[in-house]
Amino acid sequence: MVAPGRIFAEATALNPRHHQHLFVPSKLAYIRGKRPRVKCILCSVARGDKKVTPLVAHETPGFLVTVNLYPYNPGHLMVFPRRHVEDFRELGSAEGLELNRLLALSLDILQKHYSPHGFNLGCNMGAASGASIEHLHFHVVPRYSREKSFMDIISGTRIFAEDPKKALRALRKAFQKAPKG
Ligand SMILES: [Zn+2]
Repeated sequence: MVAPGRIFAEATALNPRHHQHLFVPSKLAYIRGKRPRVKCILCSVARGDKKVTPLVAHETPGFLVTVNLYPYNPGHLMVFPRRHVEDFRELGSAEGLELNRLLALSLDILQKHYSPHGFNLGCNMGAASGASIEHLHFHVVPRYSREKSFMDIISGTRIFAEDPKKALRALRKAFQKAPKG
């Protein structure tokens, strides 16, 4: 996948008149910061390490839900265990239940806030699968039946992303309001 920031930069360079409608890439770069030098980025997020960007939308005893720093689509969430697990089969049954509930809750909240037509839901295990982070994490990605093609993106006709911090504030509120249990 091409980094969204790069697509942005290309889109705005090709079509400056659309610039004001697009999320400003330099701001995105500022929010993302430099890739932190930590052993495991998700363990660092779980610990509340100040070296990593805090994008936590929701927390439970065993799991975290974060806004993805490199979203494929607006509303792209990640759900992952606090403890460092690399294989789905290492999760216990109580963790499995907690994960199941969180994924369902994430789908409910994204459905309400983004009204997508579908979702991609899943995880990559191992470098060969495309996983760039070893720590097990599930992606929840809202999808739209009229999503534009890559050509639309680079020609600047698509609003590609939203400000992750703005998304984070709205989603955090939604998770707080969600019924518990
Ligand atoms: Zn980890």
